[in-house]
Amino acid sequence: MPASTSAKPYRIGRSKTGLGLFATQPIKKGVKIVQYFGPLLDSKNEKHDAIENKYLFQISKRWTVDGSIRKNIARYINHACKPNAESDVNAAKKKIIIRSIKKIEPGEEINYDYGTEYFKEYLKPIGCKCDSCEKKRKKKRAEARAEKLKAKEKAERKALKKEEKAKAKAKSSGKAASGKAKTTKAAAKKTSAATKAKGRTTKGKSKKA
Ligand SMILES: [Zn+2]
Repeated sequence: MPASTSAKPYRIGRSKTGLGLFATQPIKKGVKIVQYFGPLLDSKNEKHDAIENKYLFQISKRWTVDGSIRKNIARYINHACKPNAESDVNAAKKKIIIRSIKKIEPGEEINYDYGTEYFKEYLKPIGCKCDSCEKKRKKKRAEARAEKLKAKEKAERKALKKEEKAKAKAKSSGKAASGKAKTTKAAAKKTSAATKAKGRTTKGKSKKA
């Protein structure tokens, strides 16, 4: 018996999300890896229909495999959006076979796509942690960082330009600038006085009316 166990091309091991199934030998494309099995649940049976767990695998409207039993090694296989295996359902035989869809190297984690329903219910709320989703997130983060850096550099360049402009202006106008400033101030005083006067007239006018 140990011979047959060691002949299996996989082992249970630590994965990013807990446990997972890993290839221990090269697995060719298109071969059966393991069967996903467990008690058959009949949707017409009320007791069966009440069973709820993460390992239910529906094979037809009527039949569902409850894969939560320990012996079902296939339950350790994690989901991936770009997997290296698939779940092949034979509804007539009520059998689920996990089959490779590409060559899998030793050490590689075996995974298949759990389907949109599972994804929506269990993975989307916590964020899918499969390799392709992690890669996407990493890329997005890197892009956001690059964008931020760009904006920062732009702001710095702008500030530097402003500073240089101000310096150049101060140099070229020299002492003349201070005289000019006085005139401007005086002009400003006049303007404010005019505005005040105007304000008064308006007020008076509105009172009369
Ligand atoms: Zn994913």
